[in-house]
Amino acid sequence: MNQRIQKLSSWLTEKDITCSFITSTPNVFYLTDFYTDPHERLLGLFVFQNEEPILICPNMEVAQARHAGWQYEIIGYSDTDNPWELIQKSLLKRNVTVTRMALEKEHLTLDRFEQIQRLFPSTSFVSAEEKLHTLRMIKDEKEVSILQDAAALADYGVEVGVQAIAEGKSELDILATIEFELKKKGIRQMSFDTMVLTGLKTAAPHGKPGLETITKGDFVLFDLGVVLDGYCSDITRTVAFGDITEKQREVYDTVLKAQVAAVNVCKPGTRVGDIDRTARSIISDAGYGDYFTHRIGHGLGIDVHEFPSMNETNDMQLQQGMAFTIEPGIYAPEIGGVRIEDDMLVTSDGAVTLTKFPKELIIK
Ligand code: MN
Ligand code: MN
Repeated sequence: MNQRIQKLSSWLTEKDITCSFITSTPNVFYLTDFYTDPHERLLGLFVFQNEEPILICPNMEVAQARHAGWQYEIIGYSDTDNPWELIQKSLLKRNVTVTRMALEKEHLTLDRFEQIQRLFPSTSFVSAEEKLHTLRMIKDEKEVSILQDAAALADYGVEVGVQAIAEGKSELDILATIEFELKKKGIRQMSFDTMVLTGLKTAAPHGKPGLETITKGDFVLFDLGVVLDGYCSDITRTVAFGDITEKQREVYDTVLKAQVAAVNVCKPGTRVGDIDRTARSIISDAGYGDYFTHRIGHGLGIDVHEFPSMNETNDMQLQQGMAFTIEPGIYAPEIGGVRIEDDMLVTSDGAVTLTKFPKELIIK
């Protein structure tokens, strides 16, 4: 069995849980190397204490699961089969009595939970998520290498975007150019909807790109990332088109100072809350505290937002192998918004930024 499944198995033994039934695409991928989006169809993975694991997927994807390297039992089902009945049969054959089962409570729908309850009426349920979050939080060498490559492609996306800035171009024009160039590099999927915002629209942290055209004196904000081999990157850069006002410059310099300071405190042992506070105090001292309306960042990996949440109240200490973002911003409705975001990796004695696009203000 692979090391990840083994770790989950040991946890089941330690906690006296019969089995874990994992149904989310990211966690199934993490444990099996099989990445599939089954839409409304059931995808599942049973991991036991001492039994071999079982994968459940649509018949038409069995070959892909094998191709991804899965060598244990697969319950394949057609669109007219009831997968729950097949699961029941398979567990009966193995003579497994399930007394306690770990599920992904954040992910599982109520409908599926009811199906599971029907199959296992005298079983108690616990959360598998805490354990999976902890396992996924520390990246191994292979994951680090993919994250580095994904970050380099995010850098490239920003580079293409900055080059594409020109009077009269719309946000969506530039966005399309970025994604077109990334597709040519083999990127099928972005890690979230690419953001290109101009002018005062930059003051909305989750603004929607549209047909607004760029004019001189605008901030242009890029927030984008790619999915590479199942892993995400996430970068934000804000640049100026033509001359900007002193106020805009002040906002930019404040965010930059906060972002660099936050990056510089990262090393094994640093408390997550202190990273947030480092950036937040610089922004507050400059008088913009009310305009930094979100946390400093989030864990990064198979999901673009994953455990842990990098916020002021999080006391967790950084450990080698953690990957996360640092992305302070100031969103001033009258001036515009600036956010600068890097992907970070904690090393044995410090931390490095995986995204490397320059952060000094670029005036196009
Ligand atoms: Mn982010
Ligand atoms: Mn982002």
